[in-house]
Amino acid sequence: MAFKSILKRGFKAEAERTAVRYRKELDLPEIAPLCAFKLADHLSIEVCKATEFLSLPEEASSMQAYDFGWSALAMIPASGKKIIIHNPFSTPARQQSDVMHELSHIICDHTFNDEELDFEVPMGMRSYNELFEEEAKCLGSCLQITREGLLWGLRKKMTNHQLSEHFNASIEMIEYRVRMTGVNRQFSYYSRSAT
Ligand SMILES: [Zn+2]
Repeated sequence: MAFKSILKRGFKAEAERTAVRYRKELDLPEIAPLCAFKLADHLSIEVCKATEFLSLPEEASSMQAYDFGWSALAMIPASGKKIIIHNPFSTPARQQSDVMHELSHIICDHTFNDEELDFEVPMGMRSYNELFEEEAKCLGSCLQITREGLLWGLRKKMTNHQLSEHFNASIEMIEYRVRMTGVNRQFSYYSRSAT
């Protein structure tokens, strides 16, 4: 089944290049995992745990106990410096994809629908439009897992589980990237031509 999307032509290719470029800037091979927190640091974007904004211990424990339906958000406080607030109770793989997603909004220079929020943590995601969400989803997934990295793993006969461990990504994210890149088709072509 073809990978359908509302993304502008060329966006995906540019996202793949961006994922490689940041790895180069951080002296990482193209196939290496890229830690979202390190990338944020490289881009001088502060990442805070949502719990840092809670004043009462009960708030933190209730946050841990319930899924609030949000995972991370990017904010521009009064200082003008962009920060990302994320849910530290999510799994490490989920935290990686959440922070990469929010970094992608910032890298793409997306603006919020509701500009001018004062600095407080809303219990819901900020609203970006649908195209911005698709762009952040696409770029975030590329930043986390490069196409070359997927091909490298497939050549080594790595399972999705092994790939998810290598990239510190969820299995769902690996599957999404495999679908998006069509690497399986490319790989079976390579292996056929190699034999
Ligand atoms: Zn988003």
